[in-house]
Amino acid sequence: MPAETPAAAWQDGWLKSARAVPSPNHGPRPKDARIDLLVLHSISLPPGRYGGPEIEQLFCNQLDWDAHPYFAGLRGLEVSSHFLIRRDGALLQFVSCDDRAWHAGRSCWRGRDNCNDDSIGIELEGLEGWSFAPAQYQALALLCQALARRYAIAHVAGHEHVAPGRKADPGPGFDWARLREALRWPQECFPSATLEQRNPAVDGSDPGQSVPQGAGSAAAMQ
Ligand SMILES: [Zn+2]
Repeated sequence: MPAETPAAAWQDGWLKSARAVPSPNHGPRPKDARIDLLVLHSISLPPGRYGGPEIEQLFCNQLDWDAHPYFAGLRGLEVSSHFLIRRDGALLQFVSCDDRAWHAGRSCWRGRDNCNDDSIGIELEGLEGWSFAPAQYQALALLCQALARRYAIAHVAGHEHVAPGRKADPGPGFDWARLREALRWPQECFPSATLEQRNPAVDGSDPGQSVPQGAGSAAAMQ
């Protein structure tokens, strides 16, 4: 099948191949925003449980805060991300990339503050410190490539890099070398801390059902 042209793949900042789940948690970008950064995150609600509707509910302000003890710490939180990649590689989009999603919070990267202004947020369903699924790397690489055809993407970083000391996702279980190899983008696009040798401990681990209670930071978003 011939590849779609960039113009045909997008409509008003929405990637047509993603399932659209519009979130109210967004605003306009600054008028002169140069969208050149992808910020990677991890999330699961409750932490370590995959496949449920809770992430979509959180991003759409529909989460029942009383449904799980962990959710109490998220009460009232208004957050979003442009994209979510499920464990099976399914791609969801919550905010137009032309708009400003609320994923990075207080942050700084490539010498610029407030990364929400000019970045695109990508959540990977997962748990800080644990590994991610092969289907997620495949979907992420395709998404990064689609974004780079539409926007002048020059940087990819984790939330842990743009908000060090405050955030730790996606964490050491994310295999940066694998993403770099899939994309074949210059090393300068990636955080220098991720340029060391591939960590063999990253491969093969999986949270399964043995996730400790309270793993992952409360209010892990923003
Ligand atoms: Zn994050």
